[in-house]
Amino acid sequence: SIGDSSHSITACYTDSMRENDIAQRALQIEAVEALANGEFVAYYQPKVAIETGEIVGLEALVRWIAPKRGMRSPADFVSLFERNGFITEIDFEMFDQACAFIRARIDENRTIVPIACNFSRLHLLDDRFPNTLKTIVDAHRVPVDMLELELTESIVMEDLSRAEAMCQRLSDLGFRIAIDDFGSGYSSLGALQNLPVDILKIDQSFLLSSSSNGSRSKTILEGIIDIAERLGTEIVVEGIETLEHAQVIEAMDPRSIAQGYLYSRPVPQSTVSELLDHGSIEPQPET
Ligand code: C2E
Ligand code: MG
Ligand code: MG
Ligand code: MG
Repeated sequence: SIGDSSHSITACYTDSMRENDIAQRALQIEAVEALANGEFVAYYQPKVAIETGEIVGLEALVRWIAPKRGMRSPADFVSLFERNGFITEIDFEMFDQACAFIRARIDENRTIVPIACNFSRLHLLDDRFPNTLKTIVDAHRVPVDMLELELTESIVMEDLSRAEAMCQRLSDLGFRIAIDDFGSGYSSLGALQNLPVDILKIDQSFLLSSSSNGSRSKTILEGIIDIAERLGTEIVVEGIETLEHAQVIEAMDPRSIAQGYLYSRPVPQSTVSELLDHGSIEPQPET
């Protein structure tokens, strides 16, 4: 019946759902134009050798910079664009910008380091994915091994055999493969057996629990680093914010690579270019 309370609750609920739906559709329409207008911009965060502060790589992280609205971060749009598929276009755009950046530095006779780009789970379903990447790299005349492809642990574990086959094809083309957010979900070291993984990126949650929860999680992290080391897999620890974090990791393995606010936030290309010219970064705790 019309007046009963359960009905109005339902009506309320659907109204807000509908509003949300409309807002999301509006955002999507805006995004298509924004992509064409160059509003999706790669910011870069350095990865540094923990012992020396030398910059050994960069990660490209998308920012949506709209003239009127200002800057939006991935948290504001990545999950929506993953649901409707648009994220794949953004991924290729970031990859293209990263290749163009490397090309520009080669042309200017400046040092280059590998750049890591993030890729959504949706690419795993696309047979043309490896060739599309190769086409972009070749168009910029950039060495393939200057690009790293980051796939999150959860994507890989979701469909391990598909992930293995895709990673093998990518690896055969010469791309470096990184497993992102390792240790954030149900990580399985066993899964690494058949994956051609070059880099493991240890999730920040792992770092935080080993610096605060003491010895058990620390032992697990040490074990992971030790196994990766023996497999010849590079270790990057994400989310290094304090000197204490850096010390904990350096004590575990001085060959570790660190990424985090202690060294630099993600910054625009012009800023990271200056950092690259300098070559290394002093750790600087934020206040
Ligand atoms: P991610 O790939 O794990 O990237 C690391 C995130 O941690 C970045 O957030 C980075 O700014 C942040 N971070 C770096 N250092 C620190 C630190 O010391 N402390 C803390 N608390 N955070 C730190 P961001 O840029 O907001 O990106 C969030 C996520 O969005 C990324 O996580 C990645 O999963 C996704 N993403 C970003 N760009 C792209 C893209 O181009 N394509 C796809 N598919 N996903 C992207
Ligand atoms: Mg990443
Ligand atoms: Mg990560
Ligand atoms: Mg992360």
